[in-house]
Amino acid sequence: MKNNVFPRVLGMSFALSLLFLPILEVSAQTVTQTSATQAALTPDAILQALMDGNERFKAGNMLDRDFVQQVSMTGSGQYPHSVILSCIDSRVPPEIVFDQGLGDVFSPRIAGNFVNTDILGSMEFATAVAGSKLIMVLGHTECGAVKGACDNVELGNLTHTLSNIAPAVYSVNVDGARNSSNKEFVDAVAHSNVELTVQNILERSSVIRDLVEQGKVKVVGAMYNVKTGEVTLVN
Ligand SMILES: [Zn+2]
Repeated sequence: MKNNVFPRVLGMSFALSLLFLPILEVSAQTVTQTSATQAALTPDAILQALMDGNERFKAGNMLDRDFVQQVSMTGSGQYPHSVILSCIDSRVPPEIVFDQGLGDVFSPRIAGNFVNTDILGSMEFATAVAGSKLIMVLGHTECGAVKGACDNVELGNLTHTLSNIAPAVYSVNVDGARNSSNKEFVDAVAHSNVELTVQNILERSSVIRDLVEQGKVKVVGAMYNVKTGEVTLVN
């Protein structure tokens, strides 16, 4: 019967799609970014991909990437989806804790993950020129730079570096000592520092602010827990 052909074909293609679904999923995750894949992504989809990557990292289930192949695939151009501003802390390399590959992420890093003119300029390049759609400010627990700012540490050029975190130190009200002996205080300052840095990006960069207002870029804050490997978003 002619009428039965259509449902049968539909059923077959459904079965086939089930068969190939796991393969398609993996190849989508391990894709090396091109201008086409970058263009197809939204800021929310990128954020979800990063959080999914952190889930894989926490579970010890990271993707099996061919970095040598990614070198050759990215050699003539890069189309990263994100900019992740993080601390220099050796325990928080963004590509690893979000399980990302070569060509996925711009990674400005500075002790205390704050912004200055040069880092803002780098973010403007990453978004307005290179097409990235998500800016994440990633702070972390047990941050040595934040502890140094809480204790008013003075040492060479580090004195100036830590002064960038001072507004976060002043912004926090918690019970107990206002120094690094108080773990709750230190982590509250790190959290506030992420929020203030997100605000700073939007206030100090009209380029990024315009992209955000057009819905082309999203700026988010997050905290990484050095004891669990978990990233949580900061509102
Ligand atoms: Zn740190």
